[in-house]
Amino acid sequence: MSIYHAESERLRKLRASAERIAAQVAAPRAEEVDRRAQWPSHTFEALAQEGLLGLNVPASLGGHGQGLTGLLLVTEAIARACSSSGLSYGMHNVATAVMAARATRYQEEHFLEPIARGEHVTALAIAEAGTGSHLYLTETAIERQDGHFLVRGQKQFVTSGGHADSYVATTLTTTGHAAPGQFNMLVVEKGTPGVEWGDEWNGLGMRGNAARAMKLQGARVDVRNLLGEEGDQNWYMFEIVVPYFILAMAATYLGVAQAALDDAITHVRTRRFGHSGELLSGSHVIQQKVAALWAKVEKGRRLVYHAANLGDRGDEQALPTILTAKAEIDDLVIHVTNEAMTLGGGQAYRDNARLARLLRDARAGQVMSPTTDLLRLWAGRVLLGLPIL
Ligand SMILES: Cc1cc2nc3c(=O)[nH]c(=O)nc-3n(C[C@H](O)[C@H](O)[C@H](O)COP(=O)(O)OP(=O)(O)OC[C@H]3O[C@@H](n4cnc5c(N)ncnc54)[C@H](O)[C@@H]3O)c2cc1C
Repeated sequence: MSIYHAESERLRKLRASAERIAAQVAAPRAEEVDRRAQWPSHTFEALAQEGLLGLNVPASLGGHGQGLTGLLLVTEAIARACSSSGLSYGMHNVATAVMAARATRYQEEHFLEPIARGEHVTALAIAEAGTGSHLYLTETAIERQDGHFLVRGQKQFVTSGGHADSYVATTLTTTGHAAPGQFNMLVVEKGTPGVEWGDEWNGLGMRGNAARAMKLQGARVDVRNLLGEEGDQNWYMFEIVVPYFILAMAATYLGVAQAALDDAITHVRTRRFGHSGELLSGSHVIQQKVAALWAKVEKGRRLVYHAANLGDRGDEQALPTILTAKAEIDDLVIHVTNEAMTLGGGQAYRDNARLARLLRDARAGQVMSPTTDLLRLWAGRVLLGLPIL
């Protein structure tokens, strides 16, 4: 069933491919991914084979040339089957979109064409201990030397840390300019001298995303890996990073909420009481609860797809809608997974039961950048006609 009438034949095919991978590859190993905190390489291999790593690579470079709506459709389908796969894939697409925004020919050949061929996974290295949720600020320093940047700093919680082939990282400019939004973005490749990885973070949920600290100790990065112009990155932050990041994460957590609702419905439709012989789904209270949860998820989905649609069309009203979309989903996914667990009873509360896992995964949404608090702050400022920062 199409989320909105304008869903094209191309989008329908992409969604069908994603749903096939979700059902056949991601879902069967989701429990193992969580229990062993294992990065879902099997999902990435399947996405690569299906050509879905190039979702946001321009069609002229061999990709699908999709924008925000395509990102939502595919990421939601994957996350519904395996939260960590959806999250890591979402990050890959955000980093791809950032690279593609103003890529040089060198960057097209070295990064975007290999991504489209399914040979390159990328990720995002923005967060730092010092600046935390204020993702438009960085303390990572760079200096220029012999056609390279020497990069010094530390990123935290880098999803796909140590597994991806490259990481789009924020740094100060070579002049050390630190005004909000005045920073550089560089592609730090796997195997770069001077890069060391910290231990895996071992989070409460999203345990397969392999988030870890990236230590940049004089890392030598080719100057050709600078994205756009030095210090001109506010444009990247609010035109590309923020919309793609927000909607990739909104899609991930929407997938988690839908998975929880699916599980709750399965449980109430199959739980039969011995004393009465009746199914739990026969209760009017349960019927109303399911309807209310379904409506919540559906309202969230409409908002998120509407935001993507506005963003893809370059509509002037897109920004507050996009900012609000993830904030709403962050709250919704916690409510839905929590209520689904109540419907699932003791079975759902069992250690490492699917609903218990989804509830843990859901809690990451609010603290993931852009965090719920900052999104509402920014949306309010935009609506009040104030500068966003
Ligand atoms: C599962 C997971 C995966 C991640 N993957 C990546 C990744 O791939 N790449 C990456 O770069 N980062 C990643 N992160 C980092 C993440 O996106 C956030 O940047 C980071 O978690 C927030 O930083 P912090 O923990 O220092 O929070 P803090 O900055 O300490 O914030 C704590 C709380 O205070 C709130 N807060 C902060 N300032 C204000 C304010 N002025 N007003 C009101 N409230 C405020 C925040 O909203 C937050 O809820 C990941 C995080 C998680 C949980």
